[in-house]
Amino acid sequence: MVWFKKEKYTTLKPPVMKDRIPEGLWTKCENCFNMVLTKDFEENLKVCKKCNHHHRLSARERIAMLADEGTFQELFAHIKPTDPLGFVDSKPYSERLKSAQKSSGYDEAVIVGTCEMDGIPVALGVMVFEFVGGSMGSVVGERITRLIEYAADHALPLVIISASGGARMQEGILSLMQMAKTSAALARLAEKKVPYISVLTNPTTAGVMASYASLGDVIIAEPDALIGFAGPRVIQQTINQILPKGFQKSEFVLEHGFLDKVVHRKDLKKTIVLFLYYFAGQVPKTWSSEEGSQQVIAAAATT
Ligand SMILES: [Zn+2]
Repeated sequence: MVWFKKEKYTTLKPPVMKDRIPEGLWTKCENCFNMVLTKDFEENLKVCKKCNHHHRLSARERIAMLADEGTFQELFAHIKPTDPLGFVDSKPYSERLKSAQKSSGYDEAVIVGTCEMDGIPVALGVMVFEFVGGSMGSVVGERITRLIEYAADHALPLVIISASGGARMQEGILSLMQMAKTSAALARLAEKKVPYISVLTNPTTAGVMASYASLGDVIIAEPDALIGFAGPRVIQQTINQILPKGFQKSEFVLEHGFLDKVVHRKDLKKTIVLFLYYFAGQVPKTWSSEEGSQQVIAAAATT
């Protein structure tokens, strides 16, 4: 007699959700994991309304957010990456460059050019984190340096939005030399008394932080961005001590005097523009001059 009979099981197929929720309609916050409508998320400049987490923006989104519509003109796009050392790690650097170009849709880790912000002509550089972690190789260094020189020659205030994991290891010493080159160009810009506003986004670290990102006349960061030289894990292992809470985050760095302001993304353009007016000794056209100049000074000092 058979006590137990094998039941026949049929595999249930998961319900098809695609018909009910179109793909891309919702976005999950990478910090609090709440679902938000993609349309609302994008309208809110990719900042989570629930937890205020600032998600990464692409360089093109940054330009669209900061430059007055239709005013951005790219410069020095003819400077293209090469493989000067014939470097090979798990794969040749030349192949790594090609696949980064294909996956990111950018030819290098920075876009530079001119634009207007609230009608003020500006030299603008925006780093591309999705291209090899926004690392600084010869092309990033050269494009940034030429942008700084262009700003100096044309007396244009300079704004650079940084997002970088550091130097491009595959270019060896050539990538490290960019730190000195960009810093020297900024010293010449300062001699000409042309202002430079540096904006740090998540993450701004290592060789970029140790050169042009930390040399602004004004240094602004987005909230909760990782800012530092070596990463917290390396430091913790080296000094063998537990690091304080919030170490290397914007708010911590501000408290320790390395930043001037931490600014919510929705206020970023307004804040940069206020500083530009402040440096130019002007007031926004829509404001009356006496009241306006007071507001510019107050806003630059406190907002
Ligand atoms: Zn969130």
